[in-house]
Amino acid sequence: MSNPKESEAILLRKVELRETSLLLTFYTKESGKISGVIKGVRSPQPQFAGVYEPFTLDKVTYYEKKNKDLFVISQCDLLEYFAPIRADIECIAYAGYFIEFVDSVCQASEKNEDIFFLLRDSLNAIANKKGSIKRIARVFEIKLLNLLGLMPRLKQCVECDSKDTFNGAFSIKNGGMLCGKCIKKDITSRKILQGTVNFMDFISTMPYEKTLRINVTEKVGKDLEDVLRGFLDYHVQKRFKSLEFMRQIGV
Ligand SMILES: [Zn+2]
Repeated sequence: MSNPKESEAILLRKVELRETSLLLTFYTKESGKISGVIKGVRSPQPQFAGVYEPFTLDKVTYYEKKNKDLFVISQCDLLEYFAPIRADIECIAYAGYFIEFVDSVCQASEKNEDIFFLLRDSLNAIANKKGSIKRIARVFEIKLLNLLGLMPRLKQCVECDSKDTFNGAFSIKNGGMLCGKCIKKDITSRKILQGTVNFMDFISTMPYEKTLRINVTEKVGKDLEDVLRGFLDYHVQKRFKSLEFMRQIGV
């Protein structure tokens, strides 16, 4: 048995195993994504109910068992319940999307503190209404693409490195901008507003808090949403249940 570790962690998933055991999947600050079993949980006690809800921020103590993929979780304490999120179905839908996204794209036990901070900051931003919910979601998507090394190339043509992309287009397939000369390399490439390119670049390079405050036109906001959805559908290739839920409730 290894030495126990302690970490801040955001709960991604919960599966009930037996009456008093749960299989929990967290994104931890110290170890990345981990799954583990916690025993002796008596669910009817309401004072402990919150700690095992998805997207709570908890403090967990866990250790590895030899030759086992699953960790043993010996302690789990609630740090932040994000109550304002749970009072609003739109907020629940977006928080659900964030954790599903991280859960889908992150491999087990690959530590990345920045992903942990991005997830925590995004949940905090929704709970404290630090920006519009759509803005919080776009910032989350762009910053996560960046952290995963999947950020589209914006300032130079992806084919020939030309910086003159003004008459170019955005190629989802090729992963970024094509200049006017290279546009024919992807007939499905689409026009993109210069404001959208600048805004994406701003979000990917600026500190988190600043990205929530800058104002952009509604047109740029919509353009960015469309570009990102197309890009994520193509490159991440996951069917998120949370997105289906968002469509159903019309957000
Ligand atoms: Zn080019």
